Amino acid sequence: MGTVITERVYGDNAEAVTEKILNRMHEIEDNLSINIRTSSISQMNSGSKGSIYSEEVIKILETAKRYSALSNGAFDVTIGPLVKEWGVFTEHPRVPAKQRIDELLGLVDYKSIDINKKENTAKLTKAGQLVDLGGIAKGYAADEAVNVCIQNDVKSAYINLGGNVSVLGSKPDGSPWKIGLQNPRGLEGEYIGILNIANKTVVTSGDYERYFVKDGIRYHHIIDPKTGYPSKSDLISSTIVTDKSIEADALSTATFVLGLEKSKRLISGLQGVEAVFVTKDKKVYVTDNLKKYFTFKDESGEYTYVEKG
Ligand code: AMP
Ligand code: MG
Repeated sequence: MGTVITERVYGDNAEAVTEKILNRMHEIEDNLSINIRTSSISQMNSGSKGSIYSEEVIKILETAKRYSALSNGAFDVTIGPLVKEWGVFTEHPRVPAKQRIDELLGLVDYKSIDINKKENTAKLTKAGQLVDLGGIAKGYAADEAVNVCIQNDVKSAYINLGGNVSVLGSKPDGSPWKIGLQNPRGLEGEYIGILNIANKTVVTSGDYERYFVKDGIRYHHIIDPKTGYPSKSDLISSTIVTDKSIEADALSTATFVLGLEKSKRLISGLQGVEAVFVTKDKKVYVTDNLKKYFTFKDESGEYTYVEKG
C-alpha cells in the first residue's frame, strides 16, 4: 500500500499478534493493490469480464459505491485513469492537457462498476476504466488489523497505517489514546490539536499528504471527479472520527472534495460520525459531539478554533 504501519499491541501474545497483523496486511495488499499485477483489482482493471472475486473485494467495492452515492460522486473509486494521468505518485508527475482531462472524465463513473453479489463477480462496463482503491483501502486494512487483535483477545492496541489511525480499547493504563492532528502547513508531527479517544478510528485527508509543485502551483493527490483537477474546495484537511475505518477513509476523501458547508451537512446526517475540518483560511471546525474529546493546541499560533458554528 506504499505506506508505513505502526503497531502498538499490548498483552501476553502481543508480539505474535503484530506478526499476524503484518501477514494480514500483505494478504490485503496482494488482493487490492493496483501495483500488483495479479491482484483482483488489477484483474478487473485489465478488462476481465465477470471474474469471481473474494467476498472481501466485493464488500469493498460495494462500500465504495455506497459512499460514492452518499457523497454525490465526490468520492469515486473509478477516478483511476485521472490519478494515473496526473502521476502524483510517480517520479514524473505532470499537469495533463485540459482536453485529455475532459476525455478521461468520461470514464469516471462509480455506477458503472457492475457487481453481482450472488455470484461474487464484478466488472467495469466502459473500456479504459480503472478502479483505484487508494481512498479507502487503508481504512479497510486498519479495520482488519483491529479484527486480528480482537480475534486474539487483545484488549488494547494502536494501529497507524500511513495516517489512518485505529485504536482498540483505551491505553493499557485505562486513559484514552491521544491522537495528534497534523498541522496541514507545518512539519510532519506538528499538531494543531489532540483527540482523546478509545475504540475509534481517526482518518485524515489533506492536500499536504502527496503533491507536486509546478510553476508555483501545488497539485495534490485528491481529484475532484467533477473537474478532473486536484480538488479546490475550501478545506486543506478533513478528519473523520467514527467506528469503522473503511467508512472514515471514504468519508475523509469525500468531505475533503465537498468542502466545509456540504460536508457539515453530510456528516450531521450520519449517526456516530464526527469530524474536524480545517479550512484554507486556517480555521478549525469540530462537530459538536466531538468537542469534548478535542483539545485545541496549535503550536504555530496560526489557526483559529471556531468553537461555535
Ligand atoms: P485519501 O488519502 O484517503 O484521501 O485518498 C486519496 C487517494 O485516493 C488518492 O491518492 C487516489 O489514489 C485516490 N483518489 C483521489 N481522488 C479520489 C476521489 N475523488 N475519490 C476516491 N478516491 C480518490
Ligand atoms: Mg480516504
